[in-house]
Amino acid sequence: MKIGIIDADLLGRQKHRFPNLVCEKLSAYWKEKGAEVELKLDYENLNEFDHVYIAKVFTDTWVPKWIQESVNMDTGEANLPENIHVGGTGFFFANAPNLDDEIEHHMPDYNLYNDWIDNEVRKAEQAAGEAGKKFNKRTFMVQFKEYTDYSIGFMTRGCFRKCPFCVNQKYDKVFRHSPLDEFYDPSRKKICLLDDNFLGCPEWRTILEELKALKKPFKFKQGMDERLLTDERCEVLFSASYDGDYTFAFDNISDYDLIHRKLQLIRKYTKATNIKFYVLVGFESTDVQDIINMWRRVALLMRYHCLPYIMRYQNKNETPWKKSEYRSFYITMARWCNQPGFFKKKSFRQFCEANQAHHKTEGTLCSAMKALVDFEERYPEIAKEYFDLRFDQFELEG
Ligand code: SF4
Repeated sequence: MKIGIIDADLLGRQKHRFPNLVCEKLSAYWKEKGAEVELKLDYENLNEFDHVYIAKVFTDTWVPKWIQESVNMDTGEANLPENIHVGGTGFFFANAPNLDDEIEHHMPDYNLYNDWIDNEVRKAEQAAGEAGKKFNKRTFMVQFKEYTDYSIGFMTRGCFRKCPFCVNQKYDKVFRHSPLDEFYDPSRKKICLLDDNFLGCPEWRTILEELKALKKPFKFKQGMDERLLTDERCEVLFSASYDGDYTFAFDNISDYDLIHRKLQLIRKYTKATNIKFYVLVGFESTDVQDIINMWRRVALLMRYHCLPYIMRYQNKNETPWKKSEYRSFYITMARWCNQPGFFKKKSFRQFCEANQAHHKTEGTLCSAMKALVDFEERYPEIAKEYFDLRFDQFELEG
């Protein structure tokens, strides 16, 4: 039996660097059955395989037209040759069918991407050699750490919130999904959890205790729901050996007061500087009110030494911020906020000035400075309130 597996995001997104868990589970499932499994890096000769599985997480990832056009997003079905199977939110958004239990609960094949990684290393080494440059394999390998260092899985599934912008609409609650040993590989240094709303699971405490008992750094890759933070949850969460940033979400301005209280709560338990909040923009509108709402959230996070990460909303068909008169302003804000090195050291104005200083065409404004100037001319009061705020002007209390 010959099985082809295509991680469409790997092929269609230039800088994509995260393994597709479904691909890894399919690979392990078929290898266990004695099949020959290949991670395919193109869409050629698919008829040579008994089965080809194409998985896609992002709706805007390119796949050949004949595949994309076969897909019915509303029914979760595709009209393709018998040996070709497509799946994932990238094809079916909220209607993506579940995997069979046998596959869903299979230990992933963490070696699926090994040959591809080896090949990337070889290419980079060769290119460095040809350019007369030194090749540092260790530095180069950092980009593959999610493939090489982590056990990856879902301890829980589901969410009860049903946010209108979210793909996660199937369930009304958060429930236990996999035991740790279903995906935990002791030879791997770290653990990455893909849970949708882990803190909303009634068994959150047991799960955190299980993770802590492994004595390995772990992280929740999706934004955690800070609205659910309590003293008890903070105590357990912030005393863990956490890997990288604690990531939460601050999607709605209507949660402003609640989030403010939760920020105070977080700061009762930790002074960590690796606390990040996704800030969704361009969803309710893309007018000046959306810009104000963005700034209010960014300024509040700054006061508590938390980092905003601007998430510009897009759905399966549209990218509204791109059509906005503030398109360039959204881009500049994202460039400033999403690079902590800039956000922690410069105000928005200083960031734009630094961009201008590197601008090559004399007598003209760079796009960042132009976005600032245009906005300030129209809304001087808003600019006065926010453009000169600096992360380091706020001191953490306590
Ligand atoms: S809380 Fe998070 S996971 Fe749940 S619906 Fe909202 S965005 Fe999705």
